[in-house]
Amino acid sequence: MEQTGAAASNAATADDHVLAHELARDCADRLLALQRRLFDRGVDHYDIEREGDELGHSWIVEQLAAARPGDALFSEEGLDDQTRVASSRTWIIDPLDGSSGFGYGGSEWAVHVALAIDGEPIVGAVASPGVGVVASTHDVPVAKQADRSQPIVVSGRTRAYSEGALLGDLLGAKVVACSSAGVKAALVATGRADVYVHDSPLYEWDVCAPAAMAIAAGLHVSDPFGVALECNKARPVVDGLVICRQEFAATVLEALAARRVG
Ligand SMILES: [Mg+2]
Repeated sequence: MEQTGAAASNAATADDHVLAHELARDCADRLLALQRRLFDRGVDHYDIEREGDELGHSWIVEQLAAARPGDALFSEEGLDDQTRVASSRTWIIDPLDGSSGFGYGGSEWAVHVALAIDGEPIVGAVASPGVGVVASTHDVPVAKQADRSQPIVVSGRTRAYSEGALLGDLLGAKVVACSSAGVKAALVATGRADVYVHDSPLYEWDVCAPAAMAIAAGLHVSDPFGVALECNKARPVVDGLVICRQEFAATVLEALAARRVG
């Protein structure tokens, strides 16, 4: 019988990278069209958010079931029966990261499609119409050398006054708050920001695709303790996320460690 998408080897294939890229890109296109249509009709923000989550999830699940029937799938919007934990290859997706902003018609949202192989974030695509990119391990963003005098730290809206402010002071940086881990990772990967920090737990669907993409882009990627991210765990949570230009990594991790002790 012909080998399907479930590769016998544990390595990702070029096709895996292309598939993740195309799924994230095409799903984001569908979501953007849906958001515009519902928003223009005056649909309630909660219903726009719910419809976005449902459309993104069902579309990606259908595509992956056809393209990679032998692989496990773990989605923010799906049931987790834990069978994925025994699978070497698990697709980890957030069909709509930043869904509440999506419901209000905003642009701070992204589609995350990742493939973890033996727990490692190897393949990843982040499609963000707001940032205007599909940043992925297939089409790796190349950050132009930033010519700004002041570094930029991006942080979640709830974190901008804690670790965001701390690092802003320490690095003499401007702190920008925005939603969606994928959006923030894409801002760093494309050189529009220098440091993204989130010093509290996150779900694997928040971090897996951004991490794979950022590693491929040559950025520092770890949890706030400096440890590489492990995904597809039974409890699918990581301690947080640091994505930054390599030259900032030591300073950022030391500051986070000192804050913990202090
Ligand atoms: Mg989501």
